[in-house]
Amino acid sequence: MRWENLATGSEHSRADAALFGAEAVTTRTFDTPEFRGITFHEIRARSIVNRVPGASRMPFEWTVNPYRGCTHACVYCFARKSHGYLDLDTGLGFDSQIVVKVNAPELVRRRLASPRWQGEHIAMGTNVDCYQRAEGRYRLMPGILAALRDHANPFSLLTKGTLILRDLELLRQAAEVTDVGISVSVGFTDEGLWRTVEPGTPAPERRLEVVRTLAAHGIGCGVLMAPVIPFLSDGPDQLRATVRAVAAAGATSVTPLVLHLRPGAREWFMSWLGRHHPYLVRRYERLYAEGAYAPKWYQRRITRQVHDLAREYRIGPADAGMPRRVRTPGPTGAPVSGPVQLSLL
Ligand code: SF4
Repeated sequence: MRWENLATGSEHSRADAALFGAEAVTTRTFDTPEFRGITFHEIRARSIVNRVPGASRMPFEWTVNPYRGCTHACVYCFARKSHGYLDLDTGLGFDSQIVVKVNAPELVRRRLASPRWQGEHIAMGTNVDCYQRAEGRYRLMPGILAALRDHANPFSLLTKGTLILRDLELLRQAAEVTDVGISVSVGFTDEGLWRTVEPGTPAPERRLEVVRTLAAHGIGCGVLMAPVIPFLSDGPDQLRATVRAVAAAGATSVTPLVLHLRPGAREWFMSWLGRHHPYLVRRYERLYAEGAYAPKWYQRRITRQVHDLAREYRIGPADAGMPRRVRTPGPTGAPVSGPVQLSLL
């Protein structure tokens, strides 16, 4: 997808015009510690409720993604590749050049009101995190959630962002009138690993606090244990520590997903691995020799270990947190053996 497919609008900055043509609205930077070094490209999108390409292979058909790029900056992020479609850099550019669809709430509301809309399930957080830091400033999600609530439209949401708690009341109201599935992504609890591989995200413990808070307010929340990173977070003690923490937070489910390395993410991750864990490079080249996915035997082993631990710690069945209309596999319960269009949030 190219930039011009995303946007309409007549105003634009010179920088955007040079980069993206006449379609960008404006480019902004904010001189606050939180946003230093980050450029926001504000656009008025043509559409926001989008059908998933090749939906027959996906567990959901419709998505809403108000942002492109993600300041959470996870090294392994699958969505890096999609930044390349906009002629943006998939490495640091993905972390710092953020596209903001400023008209997302009005587009969602208009689409849901259309007589042609059938009230299908909408998945959010499937490409990049809708509760990344930019959301604190742009506040697109309250308008989107209010539209979904007003139309009693079922939806699911996957995030690593603690900012979701800002919208707790809207989520609660939506859950009263429709199916709402929320999942938080916590792949591991190792602080040292978190700081280097997910440098822009809230700490795992803070994400688990989100699960705890949602549960305390009667909103069930699953944990997508993603990614499990071979040789770095897959030891028996590490898996146990993570599942134990997930259980203690009151998650309704835990679903493991082994790291996958598709083009765009693969190069960035392997260069990070070479800098931080050079002794593992050869092992990774062997494990991912067949392509983007770790071998089936490895994925099955991790799944079995996590499911055994989930039983031991009495976490509910793997699809307990799913909305009724989207059962496993789903945005919060992705299969471990197939190509899944998730950014490993
Ligand atoms: S994995 Fe999710 S949270 Fe991390 S950078 Fe990608 S979209 Fe953002």
